Amino acid sequence: MFSFALGLALMVGGQNPYGALEGLKILKPADTQDYKSTPAPAGAQVLFDGKATDAFQHRDGKSPIGWKVTEEGYLEVTAGKGGDIITKEKFSSPIHLHVEFRVPFMPKASGQGRGNSGVYVQGRYEVQVLDSYGLDSKDNDCGGIYGVAKPLVNACKAPTVWQAYDIDFTPPVFENGKKVKEGVITVKQNGVTIHDQQKITKDNTTAGLGGNPAEGGPILLQDHGNPVQYRNIWVVKKPATTVGVDDRGIPKEGPRAELPGENAGPEVILDEEALTTEKKVLGERVIPLNQPIFGRLRDRFRRR
Ligand code: MG
Repeated sequence: MFSFALGLALMVGGQNPYGALEGLKILKPADTQDYKSTPAPAGAQVLFDGKATDAFQHRDGKSPIGWKVTEEGYLEVTAGKGGDIITKEKFSSPIHLHVEFRVPFMPKASGQGRGNSGVYVQGRYEVQVLDSYGLDSKDNDCGGIYGVAKPLVNACKAPTVWQAYDIDFTPPVFENGKKVKEGVITVKQNGVTIHDQQKITKDNTTAGLGGNPAEGGPILLQDHGNPVQYRNIWVVKKPATTVGVDDRGIPKEGPRAELPGENAGPEVILDEEALTTEKKVLGERVIPLNQPIFGRLRDRFRRR
């Protein structure tokens, strides 16, 4: 009798936030299909692979994370109790960050209370995670750089459906404590470009870690009180786009590394300096120098 009552209470009060999308108007069939998961390419640093969470710690920088890993291997916000989580590592160079996420279906909630979380690069610049399906997106909607720029288009899938962010971030450049170049971010959501070389005009977006914007920071995933889920998180450090300073002390532009499209398979385009690192890390699994891409990169170096 007790278990029957408990079961009834769960059915009535505890609707599965990843269950059926009852009553939701679906705009096109693809919106209910998971975006294809992208395996970490060679040379990437895996931050979450479905099991280990030891790349992360609590926002306080010392406690373990309070989020749970579900039976399926998803990292879920323990709503309102876990707190934000951050990578133990701080990133100061340009990065390519891949994050897969899905937001719960919360038909009774609205606005910022519906599937809210967020991916902050350097702990400061939030790419919003929210259920903004079918909305005319603002800068605080899903894909928005919070308080800075709205997404170019609404590329959201329906709630409960897996989505992906591919974020290319270049940190701001500081010289003698003065910002001489703003940070720049390009974001693809589910393969669609939603920010293209967007300048980040703030040193910290709402609820970010703040701190000295001339210094690196961790990747932060936000606890905004909703059970948002993450899977398959990886990052590639790219070579700095500035190489030293010229005779006037102005940072010089260096060669840019590129990455393949978000679903282009395991090959990563790295410059020769990165290849040296790759050799150290991967031993036998070095990408051979005679691979065509390195020839193209060498040509590019020569042209400069
Ligand atoms: Mg948020």
